[in-house]
Amino acid sequence: MGYKTEKLYEDTYLIRDDADEALYLIERNHKAYLIDTGMDHDSLQEEIKKITNLPVTVLLTHAHIDHIGRTGEFNDVFMDLKDLEIYKKHMHMNEGNFHSDGLCFKDPAEIKPIKDTYDDLQIIPLQGHTPGSIIIVDPQNKAVYTGDAIGSGCGVWMQIAHALTIAEYKEGLETAVKKLEELGVDNSWKFHGGHYGQENYSQVQRPNPLTLQLIKDMIELCDRLLHHEKQEFTEVNFISDGIPYYTSWKTAEMILTKERI
Ligand SMILES: [Zn+2]
Repeated sequence: MGYKTEKLYEDTYLIRDDADEALYLIERNHKAYLIDTGMDHDSLQEEIKKITNLPVTVLLTHAHIDHIGRTGEFNDVFMDLKDLEIYKKHMHMNEGNFHSDGLCFKDPAEIKPIKDTYDDLQIIPLQGHTPGSIIIVDPQNKAVYTGDAIGSGCGVWMQIAHALTIAEYKEGLETAVKKLEELGVDNSWKFHGGHYGQENYSQVQRPNPLTLQLIKDMIELCDRLLHHEKQEFTEVNFISDGIPYYTSWKTAEMILTKERI
């Protein structure tokens, strides 16, 4: 139980929590940037003290309970405020495996609006999974941190409450690809999702790592859904706002309800 930490790059650590949420700590210019806070019942601050004494700035990829559960331990927490309503709901969540009891949330009034850059880290909006989902580009390590915006290797969750429509998601993906390519991101860069090990649960190929190509395949999948091309839909059993189905195209996988199309 508790956290498992490993070095990803010279200045970057992967911290896995109890529920295999993947958090990332990047040391840069005498600061430490923490991407998401998981939902472990043990102190995350204590785990980070084993890695670094640098002051920590938290960058939230989005406001779901499994990414915000220890924000209360940190002074500086940034998020796209389009997710603030979700944040307030998820602080009091009691659904499936998700319980807010024993977690530690920062007062939503103290959450600061996300900026475009933090040192050389670039913030790119990627709406869909939530209205305020973002991804983070680290040019130094040629790495991209994607939270849940494109899933973690076995499908993006578009079936949950507050997820946007497929048309809105497609727009978010297209804008993000344009920005990623402007920053020089290509298929050789490493993409890191918000949940550890899920690429081994893919129904397309195992592992099915996140890549720039997967985002492009996701745009094609959205297109196919919007144009009512023939797709196979398999009913699945996840938390959902309606009947959830799995569908895929090339390397892209999605859970959705048919009302979102
Ligand atoms: Zn999420």
